[in-house]
Amino acid sequence: MAQIKNVGVYTSGGDSPGMNAAIRAVVRTALYHNLEVTGIRRGYEGMITGDLFPMDRKSVANIIQRGGTILKTARSEQFKTAEGRKMAYDNLKKHKIDALVGIGGDGTFTGAKVFGKEYDIPVVGLPGTIDNDLIGTDFTIGYDTAINTVIDAVDKIRDTAESHDRLFIVEVMGRDSGLIALRTGIAVGAEAILIPETKTDLNALYHKLEQGRRDKSSKIVIVAEGEEAGGAFEIGRLIKDRFPNYDTRVSVLGHIQRGGRPSCQDRVLASRVGVAAIEGLLEGHRNEMVGIINGEVAFTPFENAIKHFIEINPNFLKIVDILSL
Ligand code: ATP
Repeated sequence: MAQIKNVGVYTSGGDSPGMNAAIRAVVRTALYHNLEVTGIRRGYEGMITGDLFPMDRKSVANIIQRGGTILKTARSEQFKTAEGRKMAYDNLKKHKIDALVGIGGDGTFTGAKVFGKEYDIPVVGLPGTIDNDLIGTDFTIGYDTAINTVIDAVDKIRDTAESHDRLFIVEVMGRDSGLIALRTGIAVGAEAILIPETKTDLNALYHKLEQGRRDKSSKIVIVAEGEEAGGAFEIGRLIKDRFPNYDTRVSVLGHIQRGGRPSCQDRVLASRVGVAAIEGLLEGHRNEMVGIINGEVAFTPFENAIKHFIEINPNFLKIVDILSL
């Protein structure tokens, strides 16, 4: 195994709060172990175009508390082609980079897995996504901040819903995963949660809304983006048709869920896995994601981190049913 001297670090896919804390941890740990660090801007896009620069201790000063990513992020179609990945590899060689730390979600790790099979550059991934949809870590960097942003927003919506006796359908992020919806739905006391992983039973929803309507002035239904009956606007339309007397509104929280200061939990998680990524690379880990499982650092091969369908805990849905009486 060749000795690692220069580590490239990049963020890729959707940004998430805590990515900066992760970059800081990677850079400072690499320097601590006398490695050089190269920042790669805009993920795989920057690798292909050669947007690389040396990083030092100061380049990550005063960023732990900032949302977004100082390295910028992008989605790169070119990296999905063999020619694109060859250009990326040539740029990495040109800058004498001999290991990579990639911070992102399942797409980022799919790209890293393909790249790691084609070229002899070890890659370790950090779970940076608000979706919490990776195997091999209890939580992803950004998830905790995002769900706290959602509950802040929905608490505000609840105030106005209560004052006007309104029913709000609130859409939260999660095209393929209902994990944001599930946890925030419980935390805001939603009457119902609709997620992509389960079939939406409209009659059960109507029944629930009708039943509870008698003595409740406000109601909140949390809908994940990828909910299978058509999403928040379609559900809103169906409810308006069914209950023309209800004052029903739809609110889409959108991109506010990605931004903001990372929570303490996300900063600590990012710092822990950032340190572990560099130390793992030095110990010979490659093509793996580093996460935290039951409080302990754990390495999971990329293919296992991304390939599994994340099971929804049915108890969570039951809790909503019981508590929304
Ligand atoms: P999030 O979960 O927050 O959306 P992500 O990492 O899943 O983040 P994607 O846009 O899905 O975000 O993936 C990031 C990038 O990874 C893509 O733009 C592409 O460059 C690369 N990538 C994804 N799939 C592949 C693949 N099959 N082969 C090569 N590269 C890929």
